Amino acid sequence: MISFQEAKDIVNKNIFQLGSELVGLAQVGGRVLAQDIIASFPSPIFDNSAMDGFAVRYEDTQGASQENPVTLKIVSTSSAGTPSKISLKPGECIQCMTGAKIPDGANSIVMVEDSSGFSDLGTVQIIIETSEGKHIRKMGEEIKDGETLIQKGRTLTPSEIGTIATFGYGELVVSKKPKVAIFGTGDELIEPGKKLGEGQIYNSNLYVFKELVDKVGGEVLMQDVIKDDKDSLRGFLSRALKTCDVIISSGGVSMGRYDYVRDIFIELGVVEHFWKVAQKPGKPLFFGTGDSTLIFGLPGNPVSSYIGFIEWVWPVLETMMGNKESQKVTGILKTPFPREKIKYRFLFGEAWIEDGQLVCQPSKKMGSHMLSSSLKANCILGAMEGDNPLQPGEPIQVNFLPWKTIK
Ligand code: AMP
Ligand code: MG
Repeated sequence: MISFQEAKDIVNKNIFQLGSELVGLAQVGGRVLAQDIIASFPSPIFDNSAMDGFAVRYEDTQGASQENPVTLKIVSTSSAGTPSKISLKPGECIQCMTGAKIPDGANSIVMVEDSSGFSDLGTVQIIIETSEGKHIRKMGEEIKDGETLIQKGRTLTPSEIGTIATFGYGELVVSKKPKVAIFGTGDELIEPGKKLGEGQIYNSNLYVFKELVDKVGGEVLMQDVIKDDKDSLRGFLSRALKTCDVIISSGGVSMGRYDYVRDIFIELGVVEHFWKVAQKPGKPLFFGTGDSTLIFGLPGNPVSSYIGFIEWVWPVLETMMGNKESQKVTGILKTPFPREKIKYRFLFGEAWIEDGQLVCQPSKKMGSHMLSSSLKANCILGAMEGDNPLQPGEPIQVNFLPWKTIK
């Protein structure tokens, strides 16, 4: 058994970066950017109106009021997409809509609400005095030409996608998705939807894994529940080693008589880096490497495999895509947290804000077979080894489940 930190260092040393590919803007949601996004023009790209109204020379509106309006001659219209070609002379105005280019000669916009209204009559009465630049969105006021907008490594969310579209990128270089094989082992497992026989249980872990791989931005290429027999394991794994970047197994790596997964990995030439880590749950964690594949053997207990995935596999998949590993934060315990004498201890937990402080408590269901402990959880709490439980008021590490928020 090796220490938690030692195991982390070994994993980190073996992570490799995936290549990149060009993807159309409509398909980039959730992907990791592999190029910097540079503004190829200033934004706004031209001076334009922030309001529906009249483009004027502000000088012409001096002294205008409700009682004493100024009359201006309407000489043209500038609408979004169809700029006016006329330049404004003293005493004139141009009907100018939101987003429309400011006509030459104009230096201010009067809102239509501050006039007698749009009309075909040829004149308009302006009832307020405006100032230079009023309601004009200036070219480059938001972003300068050549500015770096988004750096590579960022996950593409609506914010990034919107900004990228604004600057006209039709396709982007993004990191390739990690190709992942997931499998479970156990003669007792049957698929949800079928009828349970005696001694059988439903396979839940692979459904958790599939969802997690999707959520982090990977792609499940191979998925199977394999009987506890060496030939079936060998067949699946030799194919997975040839085609996948990461293999993740659930079960079959403990000390049980039918726990063959580790044996078959080694038989197929996988280099074992460690097999047991000082952590609870999930001590029998296997980590190995093939020619170009990382292999994680997680234990079968549903809480162990779920927490194991989040703590060990998720950050690796993020790093392979060039994404920064999500940060952990510190919360203050509201209830005791059971530490282990020589093992790192994880439990699903709830974290929330109280009096401006992040506070948290572990799930009351602590067994590694009790998957319902994840239902209320929005985080995983983790504590280093120690002789006594951590007490209320003491700090603890909080690893938010990336798709959960504080409610
Ligand atoms: P193992 O690591 O194979 O010894 O399995 C440990 C425990 O986890 C046993 O109770 C298994 O029945 C259970 N288990 C293994 N695989 C799964 C799975 N895919 N879904 C749910 N439970 C599982
Ligand atoms: Mg088993």
